[in-house]
Order: sequence, then C-alpha cells, then structure tokens
Amino acid sequence: MTESEEQLFRVVVVDDDRAIRKLVKLFLQRQGYETAECANGAEAREELWHRRWDLAILDRRLPDIDGLQLCREIKGEYEFRNRYVIVLTGEDDHEDKLEGFELGADDYVTKPFQPAELVARIRAARRIVDLQKELLEKNEKLARLSITDGLTQLYNHRHLQESLAREFEEARRYERPLSFALIDLDYFKKVNDTFGHAAGDEVLKEVAARFSDSVRTSDLVARYGGEEFAVLMPQTTLDDAIQFAEKIRNVVEEAPIQTDEAEIRVTVSIGVASNSLTDFDSTLELVDSADKALYRAKENGRNQVQWERRAEPRRTTHPVS
Ligand code: GH3
Ligand code: MG
Ligand code: MG
Repeated sequence: MTESEEQLFRVVVVDDDRAIRKLVKLFLQRQGYETAECANGAEAREELWHRRWDLAILDRRLPDIDGLQLCREIKGEYEFRNRYVIVLTGEDDHEDKLEGFELGADDYVTKPFQPAELVARIRAARRIVDLQKELLEKNEKLARLSITDGLTQLYNHRHLQESLAREFEEARRYERPLSFALIDLDYFKKVNDTFGHAAGDEVLKEVAARFSDSVRTSDLVARYGGEEFAVLMPQTTLDDAIQFAEKIRNVVEEAPIQTDEAEIRVTVSIGVASNSLTDFDSTLELVDSADKALYRAKENGRNQVQWERRAEPRRTTHPVS
C-alpha cells in the first residue's frame, strides 16, 4: 500500500434524503475525506460490494431495505471485518439502538444530528479503522514470518510438516497420488570450509531460488533444515515426481553459483517417495522412505535421484520348508 492510499479514508453515505446526503458530504469533504453517496439499498450494495471504503453511514429507514438489515449483511462479510458502520436513525429509540448494536453497527447517531457530533464520531471511527488496519497488517506479517525460513525465504520445517499432514490425509481420503522429495547438497561442508560460511549461505539462497522457480504452484518447497530441502507434490505420481526431481537436480548442476567469494559449483542428491507406489500408514513412513532413497543416492556417488523400491507386501510370510 502506498502512503497516499493509506491516507485516504473513504466514507459512503447511504440516505434517501438528498438534503442530508449533501449536508454530510459537505462536512466530510471539509475534513478531507473522500465520499460517495447512495440513495437506497440497491445503490449501497452496488457501491459497498464493488468499491473500496472504510466507513458507511447508513440511514435506518431506506426505501427498499431496513438499514439494519444492510448493516447485518455488511458485518457478515469477512472481507469487511475492519470496516466501520454508523447507523442514522430518526427516532431516539433505545430498543432500536440495542438492536442495531446487536446487528453489528459500530455506532449510532440520531437525527436530527449536530454536524459537529457526526464529525467527531467519524474522527473516532477513523482512529479505530486505522488501528485495525495496522493490526491486521502486522498479524499478516507475523503469520508470514512464522512459516518462512529467514535465510532462503522458503517455507520452514514447521509449515512443511503441517502441509504434509494435511495433504497426506487429503490424498488418502480421495485416493490421490502424493509424492515427496528430500534434497541434500553434496559435500556442502567443503563449500563452507573452502569459501567460508557467508558464501555457503549465498549458495543456499541461490539453490532455494532455483527450486522456487522450478516448482509448480501446487507444489510446496521448504527448507527442511541445514542444507536439506523438501518438495511436497500433491496429485503427483512417483514417475512424475522422479522426472521433476531430475529437473531440479539439473538446475543446480547446470550453472555455477556466483557468490562474493567465488563462482561455486554444487550438486544435489535427491530421494523420492510416493503413496502411488506404497500404501504408507503415516507421513513419518513417507518421509522415512524418501530419506532412505536419499541415503542410497549418496552411497551411489551423489548428484543423482533415487526413489523408493517397491515395498514388500504387508503381511508376515512364512518360508516354506
Ligand atoms: P553429503 O554430501 O554427505 O551431504 O556431505 P555434506 O558435507 O553436505 O554433509 P554434512 O552433513 O557433513 O555437512 C552439512 C554442512 O552444511 C555442515 C553445516 O555446517 C552446513 N550447513 C548447515 N546449515 C547451514 C547454513 O545455514 N549455512 C551454511 N553456510 N552452512 C550450513
Ligand atoms: Mg545433510
Ligand atoms: Mg549434504
């Protein structure tokens, strides 16, 4: 959001009385607020549901709808959770006000009103809306931070585990394939030892960026820990996952990584597992299977993709003598 957008506070006045609309608008514009006018419920729905706004001033008595009903509709929308609604009413009826607050009105002003009072209430509304906006933005930022790895900006281990648990259940329920790959940089200790830890960090960042560029939007790539990464591939069979793993193995090998220290060549070993081959009982078993395949890739000489072998039938067999 730019600074100027942040400053804009847009007020929608919904009243069938033209004189009142003009009066309110005049005072609002004097305060520097942006305004819009609606003469009935239909116009208000059109305006509020299709354009940006911060505060709605709703007349209780509209020709086509009860202002409180409109208020209820607004407050039922999740995306309007940080908007403010002031209801204008003709009668100073206590019951009326209580009902309005129950339906979610944030404030009430009784007609005929003192413009100065309305302006003061709008100023208070603005303080609340601005604070709420700030809070929501901070919450969103915190939520993002809590699932992000600080160095690589990929998802972190915790988020991967949560997504894995969810996707595993979905895959089982709908009998869909799900594949999982573990990726480990080869001889990475040597990179640190030769070029320093800072250069090692740059390599991890670049490798992470290449992975992000290579995955499909439905895949989830995460930093598993240290110099290990993971890719969760919903709706992907083992064959497709192996092909994909081969592609990401190649994007690491094909071009050296330019760091402040030197141009560094690295490779990765990848282990792949999939429920399209084996009926895993838990995410632990799936991850363990990918880990075993990764171990084989290392043993076999590194810079390669290995995958689970077909699992043994799940029953106890008795050798026939
Ligand atoms: P292998 O081919 O068997 O995987 O060998 P390796 O050297 O990659 O494996 P090892 O597990 O012995 O070493 C991993 C190294 O990764 C050691 C550790 O210091 C380094 N490492 C882990 N996290 C980070 C990090 O965030 N930044 C840097 N620069 N290095 C890291
Ligand atoms: Mg490792
Ligand atoms: Mg390694």
